[in-house]
Amino acid sequence: MELAAMKRAQQVLAERFGYDEFRPGQKAVVSAVLEGRDVLAVMPTGAGKSVCYQVPAVAADGLALVISPLVSLMADQVRAVQEAGIRGAYLNSTLTLGQQAEVLRRAEAGAYDLMYVAPERLADPRFAEFAERVALSLLAVDEAHCVSQWGQDFRPSYLAIGDFITSLPTRPVVAALTATATSPVRRDIARLLGLRDPVEVVTGFDRPNLRFAVERHEPKRKLARLDAFIDERRAESGIVYCAKRATVEEVCDHLREQGIAATRYHAGLPAAERERNQRAFVNDEAPVMVATNAFGMGIDKSNVSYVAHFNMPGSMEAYYQEAGRAGRDGQPADCLLLWCDGDIATGRFFIEQESAHEGLTPEEAEVVRASRRRMLESMVGYCYTTGCLRAYLLRYFGEDVASEGRLSQGGAAEEAPASSLAKRCCSNCAGEFEAVDVTAEARAVMRCVQALRGRFGKTTVVDVLRGADTESLRQWGLTGLPVYGACEARRPLLMEVVELLAADGYLAITEGKFPLVGFGPRYREAAEPDFSLTMKQTPKVRKGAAAKA
Ligand code: ADP
Repeated sequence: MELAAMKRAQQVLAERFGYDEFRPGQKAVVSAVLEGRDVLAVMPTGAGKSVCYQVPAVAADGLALVISPLVSLMADQVRAVQEAGIRGAYLNSTLTLGQQAEVLRRAEAGAYDLMYVAPERLADPRFAEFAERVALSLLAVDEAHCVSQWGQDFRPSYLAIGDFITSLPTRPVVAALTATATSPVRRDIARLLGLRDPVEVVTGFDRPNLRFAVERHEPKRKLARLDAFIDERRAESGIVYCAKRATVEEVCDHLREQGIAATRYHAGLPAAERERNQRAFVNDEAPVMVATNAFGMGIDKSNVSYVAHFNMPGSMEAYYQEAGRAGRDGQPADCLLLWCDGDIATGRFFIEQESAHEGLTPEEAEVVRASRRRMLESMVGYCYTTGCLRAYLLRYFGEDVASEGRLSQGGAAEEAPASSLAKRCCSNCAGEFEAVDVTAEARAVMRCVQALRGRFGKTTVVDVLRGADTESLRQWGLTGLPVYGACEARRPLLMEVVELLAADGYLAITEGKFPLVGFGPRYREAAEPDFSLTMKQTPKVRKGAAAKA
């Protein structure tokens, strides 16, 4: 590629953005774009995707169009680029019609290097006419996974981008950027946006300074555990994510009662209060933020040294994005996930609730739900796994992770003894759990599900195995089955074994009001002689934590 163009890009980076050098992935994307190649960039949140299109927008002639779903962040994004002395604008529904016309007029006159639009805008005939007249140098598709029904944020309006590109008299370079890396989503992005022989840039998802921990607690023990966790980090700043608004209120009130300066954020609060609380957190007046997943987009606070999840999130994507808000400054940071059985039910409930997905046909909505169910299963698997949590995460995001104990393969940490590396990697590598062998129970559950032919729910499966003396079992004629009373294990344990088998793909649990338990894609493997299953028990609670609780 032309050295001159890259040199110019380097100069833009230094002079406008004040950065000495490109991060590894950024350089690859910028140079590909300047060479005129399409790009598919997969980078984790915080890796610096914006620079990838902002620098070429300035370094090259013509207008760069950025398609972004984040209408509420556009004004901030544009303000930030303007502060860097870049000629930027946005066009969205928060502007009056008069203002929109003015932006288009100025853009046509060459007043901007960069313009942000929402995908819906592409359907506007006035905008289409504009795009035909103006030479676009680059079309950057931010959050490109929104084009895929397999992603967690499918937006039908993203499907129009492909046609929009083909409708242009001169095809601009297309750069698609996303933090979602699963292969079906990547394939969809390339196909649906019509990328031409794109350069794929995938930067590492590993964040060596983050330590991961998963702990399961009875619902009523969670608060005490959170107290102990925060108490060890009194001087630090952190975020506590909760699944529901009511939980945010409850946890925030509780922490305040403990004398912790906590604040809160969720969509049910008035905008002014949300803003005030966010500012208090960012300015370190309130070091602890208790929030739903509504909090965090576009927030760039570097000294967050822990992220605790009070509930299991709905997907690994959501989890890693939220947990990844810790340790942006590169300092060691903790990501703790607390969960209980009820969280799985809540996750399933949310998925069904979302059926009223705006703008989706019933068929599309069903595809989205099916995909979300799979994503939730992966999340449940993360909670249950006894292997390295970091390795599980990285594998999920498509990285080739050879074995467990991923951190020990990292460069910077090589000097330290293995035991201390294991401790810093994750709670599983540190051995902070007890594993129990549940192979026999798992085999019994599989036999029972086969006998019930996928027509019953979890409770019935467990009731049959335990030989429960209930009217409904008699009515259904299940008391005569060979598996009736075949297992003496405790009821909660069997319930967990069913969930674990589902998380691992041996079973599949349908959704709806009455979820049914049937075989999953790996069901045959459970019949192999070498099949075994271990399950994580409630973690050993350290003495200090127990005493405080
Ligand atoms: P993403 O969109 O991938 O989540 P952003 O574009 O918001 O990430 O960038 C994350 C942070 O990294 C921002 O604070 C940004 O200023 C910073 N950043 C980006 N590129 C560089 C660089 N080359 N050198 C130093 N900091 C950078």
